[in-house]
Amino acid sequence: MKRQHQASDSAKHYQRIFTSRSEEELRVLAHVKRFMERLSADAVFRTKLCEHVENPIVVSKEYGINVDPMDLLPMWHTKYAKHRHTDEMSRWPKAKAWDDYLAEMIANRDLIRDAGNTEKSNPRFHAWRERQMRRLASELGVSADSVVHAIVAYELSQGCSVGCWFCGLSAEKFQGNYPYTPENAALWRKILQVMVDLFGPASQTGFCYWATDPVDNPDYPKFIEDHYRITGHLPQTTTAVPLKNLELTRKVMALHKKYCCITQRFSILSTKVLDRVYDTFTPEEIMGVELVMQSKDAFMSKAKAGRAEERREKLRAAGKDDKISKIQNDHATIACVSGFLINMVTKTVQLVTPKRASPRWPLGYRIYAEARFTTAAEFRAVVEGMVDVFMPESVPAGEVLSFRHDLEFSALPEGFELEGRGMKYSCNGMSYMGRLGRLIHESRTTASDVIGELVSGGEDIFLVGQSLQSLYDNGLLDDDLGREGAASAG
Ligand code: SF4
Repeated sequence: MKRQHQASDSAKHYQRIFTSRSEEELRVLAHVKRFMERLSADAVFRTKLCEHVENPIVVSKEYGINVDPMDLLPMWHTKYAKHRHTDEMSRWPKAKAWDDYLAEMIANRDLIRDAGNTEKSNPRFHAWRERQMRRLASELGVSADSVVHAIVAYELSQGCSVGCWFCGLSAEKFQGNYPYTPENAALWRKILQVMVDLFGPASQTGFCYWATDPVDNPDYPKFIEDHYRITGHLPQTTTAVPLKNLELTRKVMALHKKYCCITQRFSILSTKVLDRVYDTFTPEEIMGVELVMQSKDAFMSKAKAGRAEERREKLRAAGKDDKISKIQNDHATIACVSGFLINMVTKTVQLVTPKRASPRWPLGYRIYAEARFTTAAEFRAVVEGMVDVFMPESVPAGEVLSFRHDLEFSALPEGFELEGRGMKYSCNGMSYMGRLGRLIHESRTTASDVIGELVSGGEDIFLVGQSLQSLYDNGLLDDDLGREGAASAG
């Protein structure tokens, strides 16, 4: 099998994060990381730091962390927090090194989003994904920054054995795996190849889990190594049970170390698990593994989606406080794919995009379409069919128009305004803008009728068409197009 693509910019950038630092710098960073993780996850550790504020090194010694908290004052001491991200940070070089590392990791996330660009390989898909990104930005506000809009996710199991109470995707119970038999492996490789053929290097943004845990499938390393060979990228791995099958976890870690394309993540479900992870791996071994703190005391918000939201609803219904995590941010979805969700066990493809979770889309993503396949040729036809049906590049002339339901419409003297949680759009500057807004807002009418009415009133057909297209491209029109989602295609 021949690798077809060069490393993406995001992978090269990721590699530089580590190669640009000396071994000693990485060693220091690994211990700072351990301190920061403890601080974020463990309430007892935080209390001890406060109790030993004059001599906090006794606490880090007790926890086996080889860094003096006095070297990290802006990271944990309220009196010094104001210096973070200022020039003053040069007084605490270890703390500054950590902030620099975090900034590079965030920049890497943005490069991963850019890697999903299919402008050349698939312009219709590209226009659709761009619309989804703009729509989500105005729907979520700042939290949309963390969504990378990967173009594909593959599930190699059906359901998940972990059963986290907060699962934002409400994963169903584990029902079985897609084993790496010769027949399955052949289909898997062909599916990957179809994605490369249709979407070029953007297929590198794929990853191999969704409402599943990677380590439920003992053949996971073989599948992701195929992904590397065919797309040129080793996909991200996130597991909530890194200790369940240590041999498997170590194999996956070795692959990430070998190909060094993207971060690997462990979700930490409790302080006990954190202790065990620290007992199992040295700080240096998991320097490249992001620990996502999901324990009770962690400074981490739970998404308002799936089972976490169900838990909140139950508490509210019982007249209780609905606080289920230490921090309650506006974290409205954990979905991060604008593209295809493929389950290799059930052989289904869904066209999905992240959304603020709602009664209509409680898992924080919308399903445009769903279809089945048995062969790679059928898979290709399904994906192409979804692009054809659901990704028109321009406003479909015969569809009834409306603004997105989450946007508030206000008429202005010379135009109109649309306000969402994250952004406010003022549309004015054209003589017809007020009427255009009212026509879309008030009458259930089609694009061609809207254009017809304005043009018969003397407006320029070209300019009106452009304005309509701009509303569409910015994701301000409801592109449900009367289909109510989950239609079939292909
Ligand atoms: S959060 Fe992940 S590991 Fe936990 S139940 Fe959901 S899919 Fe499984």
